Amino acid sequence: MSRTLIRVRALSCRLGGKEILRGVDFELREGQSLAVFGPNGAGKSTLLRCLLRIHERSGGRLEILGRELDRLSQRQLARCLSYAPQADRQSSPFQVEDFVALARYPHLGALRAPGPEDRRAIREALETTDTLRFAGRRMDTLSGGERQKVYVAAALAQQSRVLLLDEPASFLDPRQRGELLRILDRCRRELGLSLVYVTHDPNLALALCDSVLGLKEGRVLFRCPGEDPELPARLAELYGRDFCSVAHPGSGRRLLVPAEDPPGEAPAPGGPA
Ligand code: ADP
Ligand code: MG
Repeated sequence: MSRTLIRVRALSCRLGGKEILRGVDFELREGQSLAVFGPNGAGKSTLLRCLLRIHERSGGRLEILGRELDRLSQRQLARCLSYAPQADRQSSPFQVEDFVALARYPHLGALRAPGPEDRRAIREALETTDTLRFAGRRMDTLSGGERQKVYVAAALAQQSRVLLLDEPASFLDPRQRGELLRILDRCRRELGLSLVYVTHDPNLALALCDSVLGLKEGRVLFRCPGEDPELPARLAELYGRDFCSVAHPGSGRRLLVPAEDPPGEAPAPGGPA
C-alpha cells in the first residue's frame, strides 16, 4: 500500500478575523496527484499556504509523511513540499540560476556551501524545464510562462516529493501552456513527483491529476476521482454554471467545457435563472 504524503483533517484557518477555511479534509498518497478547483476567494491559495506554514491554522491536524506538520523542521518540510506560487509581478533581484540554487538549502551540509551534487541537481532541473538558456537572466525580466518554468525548476532542484502549484498556467499562451503540461507530466511520470494543482482549468488538471477536490467558501464541496462521470454536475454546483463533457475530436479524451454563454442580458444576481 502506498504511503500517505499529506493528510489534512478538519483544517480551519482564520485570517483578518474571518474564517477562510473550515473543516477541510483530504489525503494525498504517494503516486497520486490532486487537482484543487474552486471559485475565486474559495480558499485554494490559503490551503496551500497552510500546508507550507506560511499561514497558521486555527484548528485541525496536518500531517506530512505521517508526522505532524508542527514537528517538522523547515528543512524536513522542504524535502517533502515545494511550491510554485501564483503569478506575481514582484521585482526579484535574483538571477535564475541563483534562485534555483536557493532551493537546494534542505540538502546542504553543515558548511552550507553547495557541492558537486547540488550543482548537478541545479543543472538537471534547469535542463528538464528548458530554462538553462536563461540561467543568467534576472527573474523579473522573464515572461509569466518562463517564470513558471523556473519555479518548477526550483521545485525539482529541491527534490521534494510533492509539488504545490498555484494556478501555474493562468496567464500562459496555448503553446507555453502545452509546454508546462509536458514538463509537469514528465515530473510526475519519470521523477515520481506528486502534484497538488490549483486551477480553474479542469482539462489541464485532469490531464495530470487522478483525483479532484472542490472548495467553495472555505469548505470541501466534493472529493472525487478525475474520471467520475458526475464531475460536470459537481463543477456546475461549484462554479454556478453548467459544464458538458465532450470527446476530443483527435484523441477521444474526455473534455469538460462550460455550457455556452446565454446571449442577451446577464440575469440579475440572485434572480431567476
Ligand atoms: P483563492 O486562492 O481560492 O482565490 P484565497 O485563499 O487567496 O482564495 O483567499 C480566500 C479568502 O481569504 C479571500 O476572501 C481573501 O480575501 C481572504 N484572504 C486571503 N489572505 C488573507 C489575509 N492575509 N488576510 C485576510 N484575508 C485574507
Ligand atoms: Mg489563489
